[in-house]
Amino acid sequence: MSRTYVYRFGRSATDGAAAMKNLLGGKGANLAEMCRLGIPVPSGFTISTEACTVYTERGRDTALGLIDAEVRAGIAFIEQEMGKRFGNAADPLLLSVRSGARASMPGMMDTILNLGLNDEAVEGLARKTGNPRFAWDSYRRFVQMYGDVVMGLKPVSKEDHDPFEVIIDMVKDSKGVKLDTELDTADLQELVARFKALIRARIGRDFPTDPWEQLWGSVIAVFESWNNDRARVYRELNDIPSSWGTAVNVQAMVFGNLGDHSATGVAFTRDAGTGEDVFNGEFLVNAQGEDVVAGIRTPQQVTLLGSRRWAELAQVAEAERAERYPSLEELMPGLYAQLLQAETQLENHFTDMQDLEFTIQEGRLWMLQTRNGKRTGAAMVRIAMEMLQQGMIDEKTALLRVTPERLNDLLHPVFDAAAMKSADVLARGLPASPGAASGQVVFHADEAEHWARDGKAVILVRQETSPEDLRGMSVAKGILTARGGMTSHAAVVARGMGKCCVSGAGAVHVDPKGRTMTIGERHFAEGDWISLNGSTGEVYAGRIATREAELSGDFGALMALADQHRRLEVRANADTPDDAERARRFGATGIGLARTEHMFFEGARIVAMREMILADDEAGRRQALAKLLPMQRSDFLGLFRAMDGLPVTIRLLDPPLHEFVPHDEAGQQQMAREMKVSPGKIALRVEQLAEFNPMLGHRGCRLGISYPEITEMQARAIFEAGLEAQDKGCAVKAEIMVPLVGTVREFNAQAAVIRATAEKVFAERGRTLPYMLGTMIETPRAALVADSIGRQAEFFSFGTNDLTQMTMGFSRDDAAKFLPQYLKLGLYEHDPFRSIDQKGVGLLVQMAVEKGRSVRPGIEVGVCGEHGGDPASVAFFHRAGLDYVSCSPFRVPIARLAAAQAALQDAAA
Ligand code: PEP
Ligand code: MG
Repeated sequence: MSRTYVYRFGRSATDGAAAMKNLLGGKGANLAEMCRLGIPVPSGFTISTEACTVYTERGRDTALGLIDAEVRAGIAFIEQEMGKRFGNAADPLLLSVRSGARASMPGMMDTILNLGLNDEAVEGLARKTGNPRFAWDSYRRFVQMYGDVVMGLKPVSKEDHDPFEVIIDMVKDSKGVKLDTELDTADLQELVARFKALIRARIGRDFPTDPWEQLWGSVIAVFESWNNDRARVYRELNDIPSSWGTAVNVQAMVFGNLGDHSATGVAFTRDAGTGEDVFNGEFLVNAQGEDVVAGIRTPQQVTLLGSRRWAELAQVAEAERAERYPSLEELMPGLYAQLLQAETQLENHFTDMQDLEFTIQEGRLWMLQTRNGKRTGAAMVRIAMEMLQQGMIDEKTALLRVTPERLNDLLHPVFDAAAMKSADVLARGLPASPGAASGQVVFHADEAEHWARDGKAVILVRQETSPEDLRGMSVAKGILTARGGMTSHAAVVARGMGKCCVSGAGAVHVDPKGRTMTIGERHFAEGDWISLNGSTGEVYAGRIATREAELSGDFGALMALADQHRRLEVRANADTPDDAERARRFGATGIGLARTEHMFFEGARIVAMREMILADDEAGRRQALAKLLPMQRSDFLGLFRAMDGLPVTIRLLDPPLHEFVPHDEAGQQQMAREMKVSPGKIALRVEQLAEFNPMLGHRGCRLGISYPEITEMQARAIFEAGLEAQDKGCAVKAEIMVPLVGTVREFNAQAAVIRATAEKVFAERGRTLPYMLGTMIETPRAALVADSIGRQAEFFSFGTNDLTQMTMGFSRDDAAKFLPQYLKLGLYEHDPFRSIDQKGVGLLVQMAVEKGRSVRPGIEVGVCGEHGGDPASVAFFHRAGLDYVSCSPFRVPIARLAAAQAALQDAAA
């Protein structure tokens, strides 16, 4: 038997079903499903995606030849169901033609409405409805859409206006009116005539009057739209194969603008903002779908409850509400009851919140679309957990319903939705660390501290940040940098602090000396208010009200459920007891990375650190290190106590020493005074420390190898703190980690210092502390020789930030200069510093895990780069068999959920 290309849907027959999305597209499949459920849907048919593929591969004639008879039968079916004839001038059957791919591709393809009208049919429609204005308005809309979508009469360049809109404006001007609704029948007739003349002049062909020619033209235009530029780019970015094709939905038109017994609206089966289980929506009497969205008239609420809530917010008194803005429930109770029944039936059937479109034509309800509704993160969690409690879905479905990244919405302060409406966008940067912040601009970290001490809310604005800015960052409400990418210092530190940050906002010109910043034409001085949205990267002028996030009961329940299903452990990157406590609150079961260098910037510590850097010999360094020892010990004690028996992974000093010295003259002068040495000596040392490429320079274990006394001090601080914590009744699980190893000999050299120090401390105290000694795998070479390293190291922790930078061969701090363009061109699918490059860097991870386990079965392997908090990367690490991921505290819940989803998907595969 030959293949079927056309699938009918209607009262008397329906060929498709919801499960046939691949063949019918999302929209077509759901229209068919609604018909099967007995819900009133204007009759129609869907031309399958396979027909589109035939068109693309074999051309117009073959495709039309294959579908011709079926489409004609489909039209006959609609005619029979609707009691009208296609092309009958006295009472024409009018159609809509819409695309509908298997995956939703928002804004990609086009729609044609009112198909079937021509100079005769419009008169028939006017007579039949007794409403000539309506008929002519429908006709002019059709000619306009057809001229644009099918005949290709579009603006010539991006500066050009839509040629049809230009004509509408001209006619409105000559009439002296502002709104389309003020145009009368004669005006609309003039528009139609002018539109047709424009088409003839510009395209060289007449607007087709034959309804069949209109139909075939529209079907072909939808097929064509599958391969337009927008669609191609969207597909490439979203991994949608071009072989899928789009379906075409041809459906009888129904009108909500036929008078006071007609209406049109949209509705949600639950609240898309909060998730509350209440039916809600908006509608307009005597209107078309686009009028609801256009915002010219105030839409009314579907339910009485919604209407009363709306009136309260809009400060409309009950009497006025009932009189001027009654709900559909009050206005058309019978139709409302039908709508309510349909929404309940649809939500129960699809077991998810539905987004519905409906039209009431002269007292009759029609459903035009149902699909799973978009929702906020908060609504996502609440709907999933309530549907689980209501027995509508199972645990697995509930977990998979929540997009991990969207949990961000619940974890950070958010801008008040009402206040956002009038926000004044100044610039866009990278959404480096989520959250919302408003504050007064300051340009120096120490000034941020002073202002904050005076109780002011500040936004720290820097060209880029460095470890010197840490304290200023920690007191700021938000951080804005002009340079730097998603793993720049500012971004990483801000995420760790759970602080809002926008990085790499190239349009921002910072003048730290003059204490001003310029964005385009606008100037901001110290103390001016700005606001940042770290979730979108937007920068706004002025102050915008924020709301604190609440971790509701549903959120906790979702997390508990995730924990039951995941295999990966989730630890946190935390450098302070505060961070550690927050991490535990968010459910981390260990610290996967404590970056010890962050501890050296506070107060007197930086002085001792600089003393060590300035020292001429080992004795001098040891003297300075002796001052650091007690401070470092108390840091570790704080971490051990906060984690009480959970693993604490401490990494030895990693950054190049030049990060600890001032680079400007004033700073060097001050340091000279503090150190009681000449400014010349400081300048000389700073110059000696300068490197062409510090990220590939004297850093990581290379420091500990050059100066073993640093490693010795840090190891001693760890062991002494561990023993002290035990004395205080805490369980201690210490894991010591050597950074940036490339050969096992580097690891061995550092391990020898650490082990010898352990022996010494244990002998002094007469007690031992169990500990693990492992390494980061963050140079490509370490991954390549992981078997040799694994014979010596007791655990691996992948530093995927460095591993990415070294594998890709571009710097994490400079990539923002070209990566955005790369992403736009599709050279990379995503920022490899945000989501792991699975095929390249990921291969090194997989290989190192295998090699490590081949020599040390059961070796503990984790990841502590930024990727540990990225859901797609977490799924990859799950499949690669890692034991844990470690990420900033605020991403811990995201990683927990992502790990559960990975386990569920793994089990299903
Ligand atoms: C890494 O390189 O992935 C890592 C965790 O270390 P850092 O970001 O401190 O270089
Ligand atoms: Mg690193």
